[in-house]
Amino acid sequence: MTIDRFAFPTTIHFGPGAAKLVGPHLVERGLKRPLVVTDRALAKLPVATAFVGRLAKCGLDVAVFEGIWGNPTVAQANAGGAAFRAHRADAVVGLGGGAALDVAKIVGVLGTAGGDAIEYAWDHPAVRAIPDAIPYFVALPTTAGTGSEVGRSAVISEDDTHVKRIVFSPSILAKQVFADPELTLGLPGGVTAATGMDALTHNVESYLSPAYHPMCDGIALEGARIAARALPVAVRDGTDLHARGEMLMASMMGAIAFQKDLGAVHSCAHALSTVADLHHGLANGVMIDHVMGFNLPSAVAKMAELARVCGAPGGATGSEEARAASFIPWLRGLKASVGIPAKLSGLTGPRPVTRADFPRLVEVAFADMCHQTNPRKCSKADFEALFASAL
Ligand SMILES: [Zn+2]
Repeated sequence: MTIDRFAFPTTIHFGPGAAKLVGPHLVERGLKRPLVVTDRALAKLPVATAFVGRLAKCGLDVAVFEGIWGNPTVAQANAGGAAFRAHRADAVVGLGGGAALDVAKIVGVLGTAGGDAIEYAWDHPAVRAIPDAIPYFVALPTTAGTGSEVGRSAVISEDDTHVKRIVFSPSILAKQVFADPELTLGLPGGVTAATGMDALTHNVESYLSPAYHPMCDGIALEGARIAARALPVAVRDGTDLHARGEMLMASMMGAIAFQKDLGAVHSCAHALSTVADLHHGLANGVMIDHVMGFNLPSAVAKMAELARVCGAPGGATGSEEARAASFIPWLRGLKASVGIPAKLSGLTGPRPVTRADFPRLVEVAFADMCHQTNPRKCSKADFEALFASAL
């Protein structure tokens, strides 16, 4: 007998202006000293300063921890815990993209239960349990991609090796999410495209994952449909509030759906971030059509469905094989329309990816867990071929 367990636990306040509800919400809960955890660059922008100002106007004694940048590290998380203690905070407000929200999830744990962030990683040899009672935590996404605000894991990198470690627990889920598309209006087109490709990839890969979860399948398909229509609009016209809202929704749907787990696109992306410090969404965006071409023979029916909901030309008529195959040129067209390079060689990242990186890329991708739920089994040789096809 197999008993499955499904949970959709997060309360989400969604819509333009939702960020204005945070102050009154904290006051209503009797909280007095929130610590806003945010990104170093974001902290200087009006969107963050105005938000913090509004919390203060509600009578809250608010402090800001802005020590997060790049791929967040263990040291950054530990510094956040120290800031929590220094402010004698009683709540955490995460404001930012995936990096800031991931760190924010564990700042309250570190600030109260103590210890080093690395000790809470699920694969730590003497992993510390996360207490049930941790400080109140709310999350406000300012990008539409990772969906970290509805996720139950925090990804932090070791400072010296850049190896990603994961803290995973339902206890670190945000108690409430305030998803306000107005917070994403200022995102540049490149960031909108890269984070949006991450959201699309979450929906696509979780739908293709063979795990049994019909509820998430439904969410993933609708999330892919929304991202497919909204992403080009949000990139073309960053002030389009409706498209911004749709991307924020598709991003949360992707992250909720990937309770089902992801696939080989994410294993490739994790390797590219570890080895070449590539932006996560950009890495997914570059790899997705290459991996989908590889997946096609093992996922015909599902890929035909994805092609149909995404509006791929040829995705609604013809044989199932033809409909499924139309998903890949559609992805290529989407990438071109939002400015994601077709190949790794088209990137102007921190440093170019070359064939010399392949052994390490293959090693990290293969060791990554995500491809365990890829629709087609992916060997080391397969990963090498995927990176070669994307070079
Ligand atoms: Zn992702």
